[in-house]
Amino acid sequence: MQPPVAVEVRGLRKAFEDKVAVAGVDLTVPRGSFYGLVGPNGAGKTTSLSMITGLLRPDDGTVTVAGHDVWRDPYEAKERIGILPEGLRLFERLSGRELLAYTGRLRGLPGAEVDERAAELLEVLGLEEAAGKLVVDYSTGMRKKIGLAAALLHNPPVLFLDEPFESVDPVSAQTIRGVLESYTASGSTVVFSSHVMELVEALCGHVAIMAAGRVVAAGTLDEVRGGKGLNEVFMELVGAPIAKGGAKGNARKGALAWLGSSSV
Ligand code: ATP
Repeated sequence: MQPPVAVEVRGLRKAFEDKVAVAGVDLTVPRGSFYGLVGPNGAGKTTSLSMITGLLRPDDGTVTVAGHDVWRDPYEAKERIGILPEGLRLFERLSGRELLAYTGRLRGLPGAEVDERAAELLEVLGLEEAAGKLVVDYSTGMRKKIGLAAALLHNPPVLFLDEPFESVDPVSAQTIRGVLESYTASGSTVVFSSHVMELVEALCGHVAIMAAGRVVAAGTLDEVRGGKGLNEVFMELVGAPIAKGGAKGNARKGALAWLGSSSV
């Protein structure tokens, strides 16, 4: 029986020399939820996800996944985690099918089971034709999809995805959404980071907004939105104010005055 909380993060901190990337993050991710992590560039999402999945050692704090402490009990915890990391590094000289076979063996699955699951994942994700091609020749979107297949192969109860829809075409995005929705409907949990608010609003039942290494709002989507759009709440919490004279965001009034007045 799985605990009702899939991921529990308490007091997570990380500094790179004098740069504090994550300044004390707490998160509670209910089991079976689709949990969106949003925040501006440099907010600390990737650093948090790396620590939560056991890839980067925190300076302080605890992380429990499916009831197992990621840093004290890494084997038990990592067995329960699937990851699609940012800047996905794959074995480029394997074909997609070989990559899945290799991943399955690393996860300790029997060969026949790996072959069966890999064939289904390749088919559902529209990679059947590319299955024999080397990963080095895959497009960025195809790499995301084979990375997702590798993350799902051992059927983990919790899946962490860093920007899973980046560079993915709309048809493939729809396919990925379908796969993830049926995965969470069966009680598994997805935590993903994204910059696309519409996507987070459409997919997620829960959301956390990060800024400057902290969680500035978290809860169910409706709690965080409070009757507004997610983008509006996001801009209120972390957006730069509109400067006098109409310069938006971080732009100083009069900045880039030379841009757009080309005489050639
Ligand atoms: P983005 O949306 O742009 O991917 P993010 O929210 O994922 O951003 P992080 O990549 O976690 O943000 O970075 C948080 C902060 O920590 C940034 O200021 C970044 O420059 C810094 N940082 C991250 N990794 C390192 C590192 N290895 N060394 C030094 N600084 C780092």
